Amino acid sequence: MLNKMTLKNMDVKGKRVLVRADYNVPLNSNHQITNDKRIRESVPTINYLLEHGAKIILCSHLGRPDGRVNPEFSMAPVAECLRKLLKKPIILTKDVAGPDTFKFVRSMKEGDIILMENLRFDPGEESNSLEFAKRLASVADIYCDDAFGAMHRSHASIVRIAELLPSCAGLLVERELKVLTKLMQNPERPFVALIGGAKVKDKINLISNLIDLADVVLIGGAMAYTFMKAKNYPVGKSLIERDKIPLAKLLIEKAEKTGTKLVLPIDHVVTGEFNFAAESIIVSTEKFPRNGMGMDIGPKTVSRYKHYISRAKTVFWNGPMGVFEFQNFAKGTNEIAMAVASCKGVTVVGGGDSAAAVEALELQDKITHVSTGGGATLKLLEGAKLPGIEALQDKI
Ligand code: AMP
Repeated sequence: MLNKMTLKNMDVKGKRVLVRADYNVPLNSNHQITNDKRIRESVPTINYLLEHGAKIILCSHLGRPDGRVNPEFSMAPVAECLRKLLKKPIILTKDVAGPDTFKFVRSMKEGDIILMENLRFDPGEESNSLEFAKRLASVADIYCDDAFGAMHRSHASIVRIAELLPSCAGLLVERELKVLTKLMQNPERPFVALIGGAKVKDKINLISNLIDLADVVLIGGAMAYTFMKAKNYPVGKSLIERDKIPLAKLLIEKAEKTGTKLVLPIDHVVTGEFNFAAESIIVSTEKFPRNGMGMDIGPKTVSRYKHYISRAKTVFWNGPMGVFEFQNFAKGTNEIAMAVASCKGVTVVGGGDSAAAVEALELQDKITHVSTGGGATLKLLEGAKLPGIEALQDKI
């Protein structure tokens, strides 16, 4: 992996290893975890450390408690989930690198596992505080960053701590970087990127970089309407970002110059209002009704996009094709998820809603890699450097 130290480069026997995981999992109103993927994905690193005789201290943030202790965001459900997955006792400390943590750390034996309370209970985490990082560092001999989904954040447990302890990337981070770096540096072609979702502003840099990297960029979701508007197509009352139309125009021009195919939907599922039960019609792009709102890509677009996906040797997908939270408008997203799963090439789904759609259809095992990072994955594919990776010790 790159030029950074990884877990396999470290001698962890008998050492206290602080593992920064990304256990920022979705919870329902009863504080039950609704998707444990991020916890499951941390298991290989934990097992590696168990097999190599380490003392394991896990830590993560969960939600946004804003630097204050708030039981709503306790790591207790994560501890419970880890106990079930690892079939081992897990001690959940009452504090974050405070007296309770020190008490348990002092008596740790090889193979013991401690999980600290939510890092964001301390304001020092998000302010990247040196003082807080020093406290975290004082519990361990080695720092292992396995929180791929948080690698784009300059926080104390991601960046500052790496100045204070010998550091390395965990197995999940190593795997994520291997797949995503290959996508950017040496993809099998044709490389088809599929970008959906609502916010053009969040994905402008991503699309721009994908125009350089991919052979075909397929656009879906609400962001297609900003691009359609940039091409002077009618979009009715669809969700658009007016101030991003000039940027969309620039991207269309860039694609023309580089010879990358930037493909927009040719038909749409259209309603009169934003409502889960609203009646819909299917219209072609040219005939988009003035009072209509685009809620999903239409069947002709689905078959066009499927055609590209089926011939691809590499696919990257981020963002739903429509308002997939409403069953009536989930067809485009679901059909695309199935097409990606059937593709024989390397398929990568970049976190967030598209990962949720894949998992809802239980297709995750048919995808080469479903990333655990939302923001971090997008940042990396934008071509940006991730502070969490930069902070790690270089390979020696
Ligand atoms: P993002 O966070 O940018 O990936 O956007 C995801 C959101 O885009 C989801 O909540 C979808 O409901 C929403 N979305 C996708 N297509 C549309 C559309 N045509 N109109 C409104 N919202 C949409």
